[in-house]
Amino acid sequence: MISTAVLGYPRIGPNRELKKALERFWSGELDEKALRDAAAKIRAAHWKLMTAAGMDFIPSGDFSLYDHVLDTACAVGAVPDRYKAFPGELASYFAMARGSQADGRDVPAMEMTKWFDTNYHYIVPEIGPGTRFALSSTKAVDHLEEAAALGVKTRPVLLGPVSFLALAKATDKSGDPLSRLDALLPVYDEQLAALAGAGAEWVQVDEPLMVTDLSSAARSAFARAYARLAKAPAKIMLTTYFGDLGDNLELALSLPVAGLHVDLVRGTRQAAEILRRKPTRLAFSLGLIDGRNIWAADLEAAVSTARPFLEAFGADRVIVAPSCSLLHCPEDLSGETSLDREIASWMAFSRQKLDELSAIAKALDGDVGGSLAQLNESARVRQDRKSSTRIHSAEVQKRMAALTPAMARRASPYAERRKAQSAAIKLPPFPTTTIGSFPQTQEVRAARAERRSGAITEAQYEKFLEQQIEKTVRKQEALGLDVLVHGEFERNDMVEYFGEMLSGFTFTRNGWVQSYGSRCVKPPVIFGDVARPRPMTVRWSTYAQSLTSKPMKGMLTGPVTILAWSFVRDDQPRSETCRQIALAIRDEVTDLEAAGIRMIQIDEPALREGLPLRRADRAEYLDWAVESFRIAASGVKDATQIHTHMCYSEFNDIVPSIAAMDADVISVESARSRMELLGAFRDFRYPNEIGPGVYDIHSPRVPSAAEMHELLEKALTVLSPEQLWVNPDCGLKTRQWKETEPSLAAMVKAAQDLRKEHEKKAGREPAAARGR
Ligand code: GLN
Ligand code: ZN
Repeated sequence: MISTAVLGYPRIGPNRELKKALERFWSGELDEKALRDAAAKIRAAHWKLMTAAGMDFIPSGDFSLYDHVLDTACAVGAVPDRYKAFPGELASYFAMARGSQADGRDVPAMEMTKWFDTNYHYIVPEIGPGTRFALSSTKAVDHLEEAAALGVKTRPVLLGPVSFLALAKATDKSGDPLSRLDALLPVYDEQLAALAGAGAEWVQVDEPLMVTDLSSAARSAFARAYARLAKAPAKIMLTTYFGDLGDNLELALSLPVAGLHVDLVRGTRQAAEILRRKPTRLAFSLGLIDGRNIWAADLEAAVSTARPFLEAFGADRVIVAPSCSLLHCPEDLSGETSLDREIASWMAFSRQKLDELSAIAKALDGDVGGSLAQLNESARVRQDRKSSTRIHSAEVQKRMAALTPAMARRASPYAERRKAQSAAIKLPPFPTTTIGSFPQTQEVRAARAERRSGAITEAQYEKFLEQQIEKTVRKQEALGLDVLVHGEFERNDMVEYFGEMLSGFTFTRNGWVQSYGSRCVKPPVIFGDVARPRPMTVRWSTYAQSLTSKPMKGMLTGPVTILAWSFVRDDQPRSETCRQIALAIRDEVTDLEAAGIRMIQIDEPALREGLPLRRADRAEYLDWAVESFRIAASGVKDATQIHTHMCYSEFNDIVPSIAAMDADVISVESARSRMELLGAFRDFRYPNEIGPGVYDIHSPRVPSAAEMHELLEKALTVLSPEQLWVNPDCGLKTRQWKETEPSLAAMVKAAQDLRKEHEKKAGREPAAARGR
C-alpha cells in the first residue's frame, strides 16, 4: 500500500483561533495556561482530521506559537543574551519575536525576514562564536506525546541544522553561522534520540536550503551533518521543497538517510532525473500536489508522475505528499459558501488536499472504486476551467497586444524629473513622510464590519472614513510631517482592497494564511484576465489632499506585489498575469495625477520575495517584474513624483533591478538591521532618492530621536544628503496611536536635528563645496 504524508498543517486554526488567543494573551486578557490550552486544541483538531482523512504520516512539532524558526533557535539554546533575563520562557520567547518594553526593560525584537520565496516571515536566529548550543526545549517530544495521548502516531518535524544555520545571521562581523555546525550537531543527536525514545519511528527533517544554489561549505555541511544524524535511532525523512534539487540531487541521493522528500510541483525536472539514476535505497516522498496554491490538483497527472516511481521502487518506497507544508494554504474550502460555485469547484484548500492525496494513493494502489469518482471529477474541473468564459476577456487581450516598450519608460531621465519635481513640490532637506497606513484601530475594523453586515449604510461608512482621514491629516500636520498620507483606513489589506475592485479576482471568506506570528493574510484568488473597471483610490486621495496644503501621497499597491500576495491562476505564465495587473494600476496612476495628486507611491514590498531561489532563474523574473512596475508607473509627467516601498529585503543581489524600476523615491526596511542593507545601495551608487526606514514598526517599542538620528547619520555615510528621506520602515497599520504619535514626533525631531546640523556644517563650508 502506498502511504500518504502531510509535511505540516496550517497553525492558525480554522477560525484564526491562534491569532485571537495570542492577541488576548499579549493584552493580558488570557493567562499562559489559557493560551497553551487554545494552542493544544488547534493541534488536537488537526491531528484528528488528518487521521480521519486516512493520512499515514501525520506531522507533530510543526505547530508554533509564533514561528518555527524561532522555536528551533530556542530549542537549540540560541537565545541571545539580551532576552535571557525575562521572567519565564514565554516572556523571553515573545520578547525575541516582538520586542518588549515591559517591567522597565527596553529590548527590540529580533530581525524578521521572508521564509524562502514565500510570504511567511521567520525570526532570524543570531549565531556567533559565543552561542552555546544545548537542547533547551521539550517541545518536539511534548507534541509527539500530546498526539500519542490522543491516539495519533505522528512523524515529528524538525528544521534541519544546515538550513537553520544558513537562515541565521552571524553576530560577529565576518562570522558564518554554518561554521558552528559541528557544535550544533550534538544537539540534533540528542533531539533525535529523545524523539526516538518517545516513540518516533520517523522524523521529518526539513532542509529547504537544498533547493538553492549551495556553496561548497554548505554542501560539505550537508554531507557531514547527515552522515552523523543518520545514525540516530529514528529514520530520517530528509525533506526538500520549494523547487528542484537540480545540481544538489546527487548530494541528496548520497546522504545516508532513510527517505527523501522532493517537490515535484515546482521541481518538475527532478522526477525524471531520480528515475534515471534509479537509486537502490531511500524511500521517496513525492510532493505531487501544490502546497502553495489553492487550485485543485490534476489528479491524473499526479498519478502518472508517481506511477514510474512505484514501478521502479515498489510500493513500500513511495509516499504521496503535498509539495511542501500546507502552512501556505488556507484550511478548509467547505466553509466558503459565498464563493462562486463554478470557481470554487476549481479549488482545494488544505483539508481538500488531504482527500486528493488519498485519491492519488488509492489510484496508484489500483483501488479504482476508491478513486475513480475523484479522478473523473478532477478531469471534469480541468476541462471546465479551460473553456470557462469567465477567464478570458477580449478587451484585456487587446490591451496586452498593444503594449509598447515606450509605455514602460518615464518621459525623461531622473535628473530632469528631479528638477521638475523640486520646482513643483517644495520640500525641506531630509523630508519626513510615512509609508501609508496609520493604525487600523478597533473602531476602524468595527466600522468595516458594520458596513459588511449592513448595520451602517455606505454613506455612513464613507463619512466615517472621511472623519478618520481628516483626523489623521490633522495629526500629521501637528507632528510636522512634510509629505502626508490619507492613512489607508478604507483598506482591509493592501492587496485585497485592490483585488476587490479589479476584475478577474475573487475572494474567500476565511482563506487566511499566516504571514508572521499572529498576522494573517487572506490572499485574493486571481482566476481570470485582470482589468480595472473604475477608479479605486482617487476619491480618498483627492479628499485627503483637499484638507491640506502639504503634498498628499497617493497610495497604490504595485503589480508584482498584487501578484505575489495572491493565489495566482496556474493556466498562464505569471509574467502575463503581472502585466495585466500593471496595466490596471497604470490606469489608476494616471487618474490620480489627473485629479491633482503630485506624489504617488506604488508599493512593491514583495518584489524581492518573488525572486526565484536559483540564480539562473532570476534575470528572467526581474525583467518582467521591473517592466511591470514601470508599466504601472510610467504614464505620468516628469513633475509627478513616483515613490515605491519595499520591506525586509536583502537587496544586495538586486539593487541594479531596483534602480531599473526608476522610482523617484524608494523607501526600504533597514531599521531592524541597523542600516546594514544600505551597503548595497552605496556599492551600486543608487542614483535616486531613498528613505531607509529609521525605526521598526513591527514592534510597539517607541524609539528615541537620538537613536534615529544616529541611524540617519549612519545612512549619510553611504548616501548623499539630497538623497535621504526620513520615514518609518513600513506602514503603521498594525500599531496603535499611543505609540505611533510619540514615535513619529521623535522621528520628526530627528530629521529637524539633522537639518540644523547640516545647516551649520554648510555654513562653515566654502560655498563651492555646496549645492551639489
Ligand atoms: N502602504 C502600505 C502600508 O503603509 C505598505 C505596506 C507594506 O509595504 N507591507 O501599510
Ligand atoms: Zn513595508
